[in-house]
Amino acid sequence: MGSRRVELGFVEEAAAAWRLRSEQFPCKVGGRPAWLGEAGLPGPAELRCGVCQQPCAFLLQLYAPVHDRPDAFHRSLFLFACRQPSCYRPAGPAPGSLRVFRNQLPRKNDTYSYEPPPEEPHLGEVPCVNLQLKCGTKLCRVCGCLAPKTCSKCHNAHYCSKDHQVRDWKAGHKQLCTQSAQTANVILDHKFLFPEYEIVIEPEELDSSDTHETEQEDLDTNEELTFADNTHEPVESLDENLLETMAKHETQDDKSFQKFKKRISLEPEQIIRYCRNGEGPIWISATNIPQETEIPNCVCGGKRIFEFQVMPQLLSHLKVDSLTESIDWGTLAVYTCAENCNLDNCYMEEFIWKQDVSSCV
Ligand SMILES: [Zn+2]
Ligand SMILES: [Zn+2]
Ligand SMILES: [Zn+2]
Ligand SMILES: [Zn+2]
Repeated sequence: MGSRRVELGFVEEAAAAWRLRSEQFPCKVGGRPAWLGEAGLPGPAELRCGVCQQPCAFLLQLYAPVHDRPDAFHRSLFLFACRQPSCYRPAGPAPGSLRVFRNQLPRKNDTYSYEPPPEEPHLGEVPCVNLQLKCGTKLCRVCGCLAPKTCSKCHNAHYCSKDHQVRDWKAGHKQLCTQSAQTANVILDHKFLFPEYEIVIEPEELDSSDTHETEQEDLDTNEELTFADNTHEPVESLDENLLETMAKHETQDDKSFQKFKKRISLEPEQIIRYCRNGEGPIWISATNIPQETEIPNCVCGGKRIFEFQVMPQLLSHLKVDSLTESIDWGTLAVYTCAENCNLDNCYMEEFIWKQDVSSCV
C-alpha cells in the first residue's frame, strides 16, 4: 500500500495460520494481534475501554509501509475495539471504546530478516497460538496483548488483567491449572476474540465516466442548495424555521447516503478504504463530519492526516449481531501522524472518528 489511489480491503476466509503471523507482515481481522515491533507495545491501561474499563479486543491490522521513510520500511496500524455494544453510543471522536496504534521499524532490525518473508511455511512448523514475543515477553492467553499478570498456581498462564484471568479461570483453567504443565497450557475458547480473517488489498477501479458523473452530481447538489437558499421565502415562525432546517438536513443526509452507496456499489464487499494523504474518507451521512480542528495533533506536535476508513460491511463478519444491542458504526475514519514520528520504535496512539448512519435515512 502507499499510492495515492484508493485501495480497498476485503476479508478472506480460512487463510493458512502461518500467513497471519508477524513474520509475514499480515493485514488481518480478528484473532490475536500479529505484533510488529516488540518494543513499546500498548499496555493494559492503553487498551482499556474508556467507557466500561474492560480490555478492548483486537479488531484489525493493516500493513502500510511508507516507502520514502527508511525508519518505516515496515509499518503497521492496529485497531482495538470494546466488545460492549453500549460503549458505541456517542458518535464523533471515538469515546475510548476504539483505539488505534501505529508501529514502524527500519528494514534492518532485531526481530525480522532483512530479506522478504518466505512465500511458504517452514517445513515441520506446527501452527500454534503465539503467547510469547521472540524476545520472551509474555502475552495474555485470552487477548494476545501484554501480560504483566501470572497465574500464581501454575505460573504458566499469563494475563493482561484480572478480568482476563477470571475469564480463563471460568472457561476451564480452574480444572486444568494444577493437573499438569501440559493441561495448564491448553488454550481455551473465551468467546472474547473476533473471528479471524485475512484482509486482501486491491486498488479501487473507477470508471472515468463514473468519476465525471460524480463530479457533475456534486455541482448539481451545490447549485440546488444555493438556489433553494436564494429563493427562500422569509421564515415567519421559529417552528417553520426549525422544520425547514430539519428538512434540509434530511435531504443532505439522504444525498450523502446515496453517494456513499453509489461509490461502494462497485465493490459492495469492501471493508477497508485506504488512501494515506490522498482522497479523504467517504461519509455515510452529512452530519457529524469532523472539522479539521476536531482532529487533534499527534503528541509530536505534527498534524494528523486521514489514512484509512473501516466500512460498516465489516460488522457482518464479526458475528456481533444480537437481538438487543450490537456493536455498530456507520464508518470509522482513522487519522495518523503526517510526520510518522518514531519514539524508540514504540507503538504510537493515533486518532479515530466514528460516524453513525444518520437516523434520517
Ligand atoms: Zn467498553
Ligand atoms: Zn487479555
Ligand atoms: Zn494456572
Ligand atoms: Zn507524530
